[in-house]
Amino acid sequence: MRQTRACLRRVVAQHSRHKYLKMKELRKSVCAANRDLERLGLVTLTWGNVSGYDPERKLIVIKPSGVPYASLTPEQMVIVDLDGKVVEGELRPSSDTPTHATLYRNFSGLRGIVHTHSPKATAFCQAARALPCFGTTHADHFHGTVPLARALTPQEVEEDYEGHTGNVIVERFRGLDPLAMPAVLVAHHAPFTWGPSPRKALENAVALEAVAAMALDALRLDPALGPMPAHISEKHYQRKHGPGATYGQAREPQAS
Ligand SMILES: [Zn+2]
Repeated sequence: MRQTRACLRRVVAQHSRHKYLKMKELRKSVCAANRDLERLGLVTLTWGNVSGYDPERKLIVIKPSGVPYASLTPEQMVIVDLDGKVVEGELRPSSDTPTHATLYRNFSGLRGIVHTHSPKATAFCQAARALPCFGTTHADHFHGTVPLARALTPQEVEEDYEGHTGNVIVERFRGLDPLAMPAVLVAHHAPFTWGPSPRKALENAVALEAVAAMALDALRLDPALGPMPAHISEKHYQRKHGPGATYGQAREPQAS
């Protein structure tokens, strides 16, 4: 009996250690992705944040509010639950935490979210314009038009601005697969991107800014420009993301 109890204690200890290590890794990757926002030129001042999600513990790791990116450490990351309530951390979490929490609650499969005010993608938000697929660079990364979420009503702003920002994104994605379209433009505000990890969500933020910049230049050349022909955009998206994807390496090269 004593042996069984000792064995049980060992299993529980191993399990908690596993969870602790996973959380430690998540803190590190969320911190690194936040620091990279600045390095990649996606943020001005502290206008952006990255979070990560641990589905096992249903906890979100997010940037603390207002702390400069260069001085961020993994220990400073704030841990909140799916209601945005702080579970661990000395600092206040990012003010956008309720938006992140709403997205994790509603979109299963998300493990990382990035919010920036990157200038070119934000220009589309400010003009309240969705971002059509004008070329293969866009088609390689995003399946069709990057959607625009509507502006918040006065009541929504008054009631719960950040929570309702998440709600209008969820509303816009009714009938859409958030994993196939890992980005949204929020009208008059800025973009959010996401992915299966904080790193992938960051890559999607970089891609979104790059295709928005190209789209703005293309619209300057032709203000009446429409989306590119679907047979080309589909080819590009499917060869990278479809069931018969041929982009990249199928497996590690064999050692010779
Ligand atoms: Zn914002």
